[in-house]
Amino acid sequence: MAANDAQLTRTLSNGTEIPLVGLGVWQVQDGPECERAVEWALEEGYRLIDTAQAYGNESSVGRAIRNSGVPREEIFLTTKFYPGGRDPHAEAEKSLERLGTDYLDLYLIHWPQGGPTWAWPGMEQASEAGLTKGIGISNFSAGEIQELLKVSQIQPAVNQIQFSPFEYRAGLVEACEEAGIVAQAYSPLGTGRHLGDPVVDRIASAAGRTPAQVLIRWAMQKGLSVIPKSTHRERIQENFGVFDFELDDDSIAALDALDTTRQTSEALSRDGKWWS
Ligand code: NDP
Repeated sequence: MAANDAQLTRTLSNGTEIPLVGLGVWQVQDGPECERAVEWALEEGYRLIDTAQAYGNESSVGRAIRNSGVPREEIFLTTKFYPGGRDPHAEAEKSLERLGTDYLDLYLIHWPQGGPTWAWPGMEQASEAGLTKGIGISNFSAGEIQELLKVSQIQPAVNQIQFSPFEYRAGLVEACEEAGIVAQAYSPLGTGRHLGDPVVDRIASAAGRTPAQVLIRWAMQKGLSVIPKSTHRERIQENFGVFDFELDDDSIAALDALDTTRQTSEALSRDGKWWS
């Protein structure tokens, strides 16, 4: 991977480029907190913002994008269909209104509530109507991807999954790659839980980096796009400082060994799914 290239991307099956590092805004309050985080990220050079209908902060994300002065077409904007709703196409229109933009770059089914296939025709309609450049999925297992592929006219471009050295879903990432789906890592820092781990800390110290940078870099070197969340300017900056170093093979192996999922092809560790 080339160093010093903050605009590294992966090409999706629909031909668009997804940045390797973006800002996630789950649990960021709608209003100034969210607006500031997004504006700081865009100032820092981030060009991928990840929100969702369920996060309740699309309006703030949209305002921040407009206030940033960064041209809309330079930003990769993702939102997610809340599958408690019925109509992905209609809900995409409402998202666009809240975001104050006329297209999404990526629209994901947030989780496969009610099964992996029922919402897909509505996602395809949203795509065909030009509301979004790409459509995809989140929290889908390898088995659920296979079910979806049997009925889809348009292939899912992305599967956004829980992914970190501790949740190293190698089987699922492999299934995504085989299907031409780019995997994207959510909760790369374990929602903060993994930052104090001694192995991560040791590798960070040896590399002269921070634990957050090591966790983000590990996911990038696995080929995933990564979306860490922070509302603090210095951390937003820190989390983007991952393009000018590389983890060596020993460090990667030590991080791989932290896996608690046994390289699963499932999307979730817990037995129960939080939506069922
Ligand atoms: P992360 O794994 O990104 O961790 C975020 C936490 O770590 C926050 O508490 C943050 O605190 C803290 N943090 C961030 N950077 C640093 C740093 N450099 N040093 C110290 N602490 C730091 O959490 P998320 O679970 O939010 O995942 C990231 C994004 O992934 C979400 O925001 C969302 O966009 C997406 N996601 C998608 C899901 C899905 O179902 N599709 C599910 C979960 C997440 P602070 O903000 O105070 O700085």
